[in-house]
Amino acid sequence: MQFPPQSLPSADDYPSLLRPGTSLFARRASRLRTLAGSAPAADWLNRLALLCDAQQTAFDALGDLGLRLPAGFAWQQAVSAGREAEIEAAWPAIYPQLASAMAAAGVAVADLGSAQASLPAVRALLAGEAEAALQSPTEAVLAAALQVVWTRFAQGLDVPTGKVLLAERGHCPCCGSAPLGSIVFAGQGRGGARYQECSLCATRWNAVRARCTLCDDPGVVAYLGIEDAFPAVRAEACEHCKGYSKLYFQDKDLVVEPLADDLATLALDVLVGEQGYARGAPNPFLLTG
Ligand SMILES: [Zn+2]
Ligand SMILES: [Zn+2]
Repeated sequence: MQFPPQSLPSADDYPSLLRPGTSLFARRASRLRTLAGSAPAADWLNRLALLCDAQQTAFDALGDLGLRLPAGFAWQQAVSAGREAEIEAAWPAIYPQLASAMAAAGVAVADLGSAQASLPAVRALLAGEAEAALQSPTEAVLAAALQVVWTRFAQGLDVPTGKVLLAERGHCPCCGSAPLGSIVFAGQGRGGARYQECSLCATRWNAVRARCTLCDDPGVVAYLGIEDAFPAVRAEACEHCKGYSKLYFQDKDLVVEPLADDLATLALDVLVGEQGYARGAPNPFLLTG
């Protein structure tokens, strides 16, 4: 068990929101390949790297969706509220590209028509409403297609560079999805600042350190880790809701990447699960079995 310094929230004027970068998927692919070298699930991580490569190609080809923040937007609801259909119109064109990349990697996935049936399960997971992980590569590829479109939407938003009052910190201010974990920055003028990262659109939003992000209870959280194997990753376990989500520390590893590093640290999930805590953050590339 590890207890890193639980610094109080800083008065520094960190931006509330950080939009995803234009090379998000390429960075994920690179990180997955690095992590695959030593991971038990190397085969799956290498195949996911190919999926992320295909996501980057599709993202680059998609172009600006032209959706902007409404003037005077007050952040009391997700930016995307009421515009989901408009935003998602592009995913059926992207799914077949990602599916063929997976097929080339030896992973069979359903065609577009059959994949539509998986939408409810994928949406429930990303919304944080499902406890289990996804079950099939088809569902993972469908989630990957949605990620491309939603990340393009979030990337095009001119989010404020300063503080904004976010209404619902447990869910993404842009798309309303659940976070897949938190990153704690080193340097960049934001050293020690914690941001949650959206499982769907990769927007990051500032969160208070040393507080459960699953139930927002200000009570006791414990930090569990496997120092030798995963020095940059801790599970933040909450005594109030008995859930946990992972924190990724840049000062231990500058290129730590929440989605990729989550998949390479499943031994930590086993350890934390044995101590009675339940996983509270979705990862669309984590499949049951
Ligand atoms: Zn989002
Ligand atoms: Zn909690």
